[in-house]
Amino acid sequence: FAPWTDPNETPLIQFKNVTKRFGEFTAIDNQTFDIYEREFFALLGPSGCGKTTMMRMLAGFEAPSEGTILLGGQDIAPIPPNKRAVNMMFQSYALFPHLSIWENIAFGLKRDGLPKEQIAARVEEMLKLTRLEKFARRKPHQCSGGQRQRVALARSLAKAPKLLLLDEPLGALDAKLRQDTQFELMDIQEKTGTTFVIVTHDQEEAMTVASRVAVMDHGKIIQADTPARIYEMPGSVYVADFIGDVNIIEGRATPAGDGYDIAFAEGEPALHAKSDKKLQAGSTAYLAIRPEKVRISTERPDDLPNVVRGKILDIAYLGNLSTYHVRLPNGQIIKSQTANTRRLSNRPFTWEDEVWLGWTDTAAVLLEG
Ligand code: ATP
Repeated sequence: FAPWTDPNETPLIQFKNVTKRFGEFTAIDNQTFDIYEREFFALLGPSGCGKTTMMRMLAGFEAPSEGTILLGGQDIAPIPPNKRAVNMMFQSYALFPHLSIWENIAFGLKRDGLPKEQIAARVEEMLKLTRLEKFARRKPHQCSGGQRQRVALARSLAKAPKLLLLDEPLGALDAKLRQDTQFELMDIQEKTGTTFVIVTHDQEEAMTVASRVAVMDHGKIIQADTPARIYEMPGSVYVADFIGDVNIIEGRATPAGDGYDIAFAEGEPALHAKSDKKLQAGSTAYLAIRPEKVRISTERPDDLPNVVRGKILDIAYLGNLSTYHVRLPNGQIIKSQTANTRRLSNRPFTWEDEVWLGWTDTAAVLLEG
């Protein structure tokens, strides 16, 4: 995997061949990549893939077993956690219950022995940034979950770190508040220009807030890219499958025209995908097609190069959308997602209906596994 880097960006963090072992176990496996200045970078991946270990190395709670981490071009290894221009906001927020919101935010500044006026000015600035001016005198238990989350954010930004690490920052909030807070987080990140690195289990959250998402597996970043490119141009079946819903069709590839024909089942016409990949004729390839790019119809579409026929097995009704699960003659299930713009009584399909599925030859991403 060659990490994608933008030559126009200035790296703030540079991982150079970083490996982290715990005994025999390799938690981070020889990783080289950059995180840019003013970037909102998300680490995403299944449990145990090494997200927290990445964060802990940045914070200084763990040291790499091999390799170097640079911050602003300087090796951070000799710098103790409290001296790094890095702060970490924990999911639990870890607010001091006996201190007011004002004192919570001021805590780190006081410990650093800053002059009183400077502390006061900075705390006021942070209260304003996080819209907490009215709550300054309250104690954490007198605040709502969302407000406590903002206090934790204000406190971790008070010392103006270059890098803020956010470990599941919205994990304790309910779904609606979480959505609002995501936009607030993006707004605060932009206003302060601080580089944010977030760990989240919620892929929608990562896609919403981050300028770049790194998808990890077994101690490696498999792909680091903008949310749109991760979703629409996944580099592997793993990434396509990890982010959002996807149909994966396996078959044998034969070069044809501007791409490949994929023979996927006996008696079915080959599917065509545009691609500039170099595959050996006859090799196994995969097509990744997002359900919303699969059009479902009762009549055979004559404007789409790829069509298959099947029977509706299941319909998942999601309010604004419906996902149709269609079984092909070879047993494979293909999903088609459609916006429910028509009235309920006018829906054209139901269970057991024979339907056509079709997609364009750019809708399918050709992958090598
Ligand atoms: P989760 O999403 O569940 O928090 P994660 O992606 O953050 O997972 P890490 O916490 O970074 O994963 O852990 C990566 C791997 O390293 C796991 O297999 C974990 O068991 C192992 N690991 C982490 N810390 C230690 C440690 N101190 N000693 C031994 N093994 C560890």
